[in-house]
Amino acid sequence: MNQFKGKCQSCGMPVSRAEYWGSEASGTRSEKYCFHCYKNGKFTDPHINVDQMVQKIRGKMVEMYIPSFVASYMANGVRKLDRWNKSGRRDAKAPFTSEQYPD
Ligand SMILES: [Zn+2]
Repeated sequence: MNQFKGKCQSCGMPVSRAEYWGSEASGTRSEKYCFHCYKNGKFTDPHINVDQMVQKIRGKMVEMYIPSFVASYMANGVRKLDRWNKSGRRDAKAPFTSEQYPD
């Protein structure tokens, strides 16, 4: 399974170039987190929680003139990423799933 390729599992940023990935303590490239989130084997913002991350990303999108309802929807997608789902039961516990809000 390699479904996470190309997307930071902390902030959800698409990673289009290898050099945008973060770095491990050993100096190798992370294949999970981008360089904004992860440097030298550590999160750059280790105490942030998922709600703060959602707000941060939403704020950045709004700055880029993305409509706020789109920004909210996209920012909430980070809740499904690996960093915020340590249990490994990502879909079972994700708060915004199609199961909860069926068409
Ligand atoms: Zn990131």
